[in-house]
Amino acid sequence: MRFLSGIQPSGTITLGNYIGAIKNFVKLQDNPDFTDFLVFVADMHAITVPQDKQALRKNIRSLVAIYLACGLNPEKVHIFIQSEVPAHAQLGWILQCTGYIGELERMTQYKDKAAKHQTDGVTVGLLTYPSLMAADILLYDTDCVPVGQDQKQHLELTRTLAERFNNKFGETFVVPEPYIAGAGAKIMSLTDPTKKMSKSDENPKAFISILDDINIIKKKIKSAVTDSDTKVKFDKENKPGISNLLTILSCCTNTSISDLEEKYKDATYAEFKEDVANAVAAEIEPIQKKYNELINSDFLDKVLDEGRDYATYLSNKKINKVMNKVGLGRKR
Ligand code: AMP
Repeated sequence: MRFLSGIQPSGTITLGNYIGAIKNFVKLQDNPDFTDFLVFVADMHAITVPQDKQALRKNIRSLVAIYLACGLNPEKVHIFIQSEVPAHAQLGWILQCTGYIGELERMTQYKDKAAKHQTDGVTVGLLTYPSLMAADILLYDTDCVPVGQDQKQHLELTRTLAERFNNKFGETFVVPEPYIAGAGAKIMSLTDPTKKMSKSDENPKAFISILDDINIIKKKIKSAVTDSDTKVKFDKENKPGISNLLTILSCCTNTSISDLEEKYKDATYAEFKEDVANAVAAEIEPIQKKYNELINSDFLDKVLDEGRDYATYLSNKKINKVMNKVGLGRKR
């Protein structure tokens, strides 16, 4: 089975990205069901909204160093940058020509992002983003795509586009299955725990960046919004802040939520938060140390060269097949 996933280098990588995505990849890379494992930096997706050139460059390299520092093993995983593999853009275009505007306009992520960018302009790329995401997935005959709840609709569209293409042009694409990570994978904002933790939040106290200073990380957790009750108990509806901190602690310590509820049944919120802050710090500190060793290393470039070459090899086979089926190019 082939596994593929990517993250956009559009700013800092948060604790949400780490727990919801990267930490899972690190676990899954050892799963023998996955004979092929591809993880990429979705830089072409990032430019669907305005990006500063210098910052984008920095974020691309930084994300690769984070992947490695978090434990992705380049002996098991091919890591590459999307824009270095031209077949993504090529297939993205062909899929744009098989999708319908109505389908794309229905995507909730498009509606949300379009609303946010009303003043600086809504790019065509923001609308056709799911066609590029479909290309990312379909180029590699991906069997398994780990998606958060937020990407489920895009994966459905990918399946629709793959089936439509297969029906029209003959069997070409594997129709991918979603791999929805289990409960607890969604990390919420520290200032408004009814909202997802997001790197694009205007309030920096709302999210933890993997590269934040450790003392700042601890401070952010200690000042996380909770409730006026005093019980450490998992109850998403009535105690979203405490439930979010329980989820974070559970993920960082590999302890079940019910064990944690038992452990903290007599603790004050301050004591509980202190432990959450220390657990997150203990998880992130070694990652930062490795990150600093990797960020300017030649090793990182070697990993990316290998990843680019492998992804190019696989994706060129597919794009040639697709072009043939559609009738593009110069065959007699
Ligand atoms: P994005 O930052 O939107 O490019 O997301 C990259 C990956 O991180 C996707 O797999 C998301 O589902 C995941 N992710 C982003 N934010 C969170 C969050 N707050 N909790 C859990 N997973 C998240």
